[in-house]
Amino acid sequence: MSLAFPALGLSEALLRAVAQRGYGEPTPIQAAALPPALLGRDLIGCARTGSGKTAAYALAVLQRLEGGARAGAGRTRALVLVPTRELAVQAGEEFRALARHLAVRPRVAVVHGGVSANPQMIGLRGGAEVVVATPGRLLDLLERRALRLDDVALLVLDEADRLLEAGFADELERITRMLPAHRQGLFFSATFPPAVRLLAAALSRDPVQVDVPAPDSAEAPAIAQRALEVDAAQRTRLLHHLVETEHWARVLVFVATRHGSEQVAEALRRAGVAAAAFHGDLAQGARSRVLADFNAGTLRVMLATDIAARGLHVPGLPVVLNFDLPRSAADYTHRIGRTARAGATGLAVSFVSAATEAHFRLIETRQGRRVPRERIAGFEPRDAAVPTVPGGGGVKGRGRSKKDRLREAALRSG
Ligand code: AMP
Repeated sequence: MSLAFPALGLSEALLRAVAQRGYGEPTPIQAAALPPALLGRDLIGCARTGSGKTAAYALAVLQRLEGGARAGAGRTRALVLVPTRELAVQAGEEFRALARHLAVRPRVAVVHGGVSANPQMIGLRGGAEVVVATPGRLLDLLERRALRLDDVALLVLDEADRLLEAGFADELERITRMLPAHRQGLFFSATFPPAVRLLAAALSRDPVQVDVPAPDSAEAPAIAQRALEVDAAQRTRLLHHLVETEHWARVLVFVATRHGSEQVAEALRRAGVAAAAFHGDLAQGARSRVLADFNAGTLRVMLATDIAARGLHVPGLPVVLNFDLPRSAADYTHRIGRTARAGATGLAVSFVSAATEAHFRLIETRQGRRVPRERIAGFEPRDAAVPTVPGGGGVKGRGRSKKDRLREAALRSG
């Protein structure tokens, strides 16, 4: 199906904004999702970052809200849940840009952790037609009675698989319990493991399923993959060597832990490479600065944890490198998908050691593609295989924070 934007049923005001944003043709997910969503149907869409899903749901929400009641004080009409701050900010910007020609412009509030809650509470006081939120901060604000969800007519779950992987299952359940029964649900996820399917089924009624070609078949061929065998202890040196000899202008490096990302960044800086860590412990301002520098090209190597990199949008990124392997094949696909976006070719490099070889083989099996092992002169591995935990570090099992536990206790007693 290749419908043009005007054929999808969008209002004049939205079509003008779409054109201004430079969107010539709808992406496949937009073409498939918009007609049923505009009719009020629930939707389950298979879509990853880069597919244009944000505009798909933003357009649907804006048009469904058009002409409807304004949100009352401390209330909202549409709730969009996303896994990370960056995604929240990006989605908020998409909403505002697409809403700019509407006769009655909706108020869009973006709430996420890592910054003071007070301005967000003040922003919600008068009500906001659209609230884009990460689940943790949203629950905080709900508990503080800064927002009520009784009037929500539309619920969007964006990157549902990442929401669950980030450990937000409990938060999601608590939030959705506060929603009215009658509402439209738009559900997006890049992958559909059983937990995501269950969640999708629980949150939608008679949904239209929109399947866009899987990332593996549609986009993976544009990404060249390399696997370099190297001992764990030599990885920082090899990374430095590659940055210099392969002349990578920019590389996004995935490291399992915050501490690890700081250590490698520090080592690279000492070697004269513009490098910085990017993880969840950084204040929002610091994170934005690192990302802006990386996007601008003044920062050559960004060392990120998965938590921080979720939903990250880095235009024209040439290389992604797995310093530590991701825990799952889905994460691998997600990580390497950061490069080679919008048809450009990209390179994904993974460091594999004797200890992580079996884990990488599993990733290869899952993605249905073998990656030849290479050795770089001067960095040949010496370690023998040892049975160990895949991934080389704990990132995903992220325990509950003290704050989370306190919050749960408070909820139980209240
Ligand atoms: P997303 O999948 O929402 O992260 O979107 C990926 C990128 O595609 C964003 O930078 C959007 O601005 C852009 N985009 C969304 N829709 C279109 C379209 N129809 N044509 C061209 N670019 C688009």
